[in-house]
Amino acid sequence: MTSIVPVVPGLLRRDGQRIVEAHSSATLILTSDSIILVDTSSHELRAGLLDGLKRAGIAPSQVDIVVLTHLHHDHIGNLDLFPSARKLARVEESPGKSIEAVTSDLDIAPGMSLMHTPGHTRGSMSVVARADDAVYVMAGDAVPTRSNYDKWLPPGINIDPGLALSSMGRIRRVADVIVPGHGEPFPSRRER
Ligand SMILES: [Zn+2]
Repeated sequence: MTSIVPVVPGLLRRDGQRIVEAHSSATLILTSDSIILVDTSSHELRAGLLDGLKRAGIAPSQVDIVVLTHLHHDHIGNLDLFPSARKLARVEESPGKSIEAVTSDLDIAPGMSLMHTPGHTRGSMSVVARADDAVYVMAGDAVPTRSNYDKWLPPGINIDPGLALSSMGRIRRVADVIVPGHGEPFPSRRER
């Protein structure tokens, strides 16, 4: 049995087009044999992240794998809390030697896989996990907010808006529930 537990929802505050505050969401994926954390939020939300882990009954030292959707600072601000976890990020993000470079779409646990969803950055990656008969996609900033998805707008920060929209399309095709880079999970309302 796999369950998805939002740890912190994160937030993105804009003033017009300008981003004035950004903290990523962080999400636990609890499977029968491993504890996986997707993104670690920003350093400013460290207390919230620790509280959220505690509410889920998980100590930072119990986290087996940290998947980083990309390496912007508002997603990796608490990586130091997980010194012994296996860490994964796409090779295009130039992750350095303490983080394993992912080069293809991998199955990392039963019912769980990584999906390259570039556009926000070259190495943006989503995590796909089946839980409670639904497919969850932890999208990172491939879908920065629910509003991007509802209005079908690519992330404001992007390397290629067309590529970003085609990644959003891939996410829409597989997801029942999307966990955006910033904010609460929401239903994708994909057509079946
Ligand atoms: Zn980002």
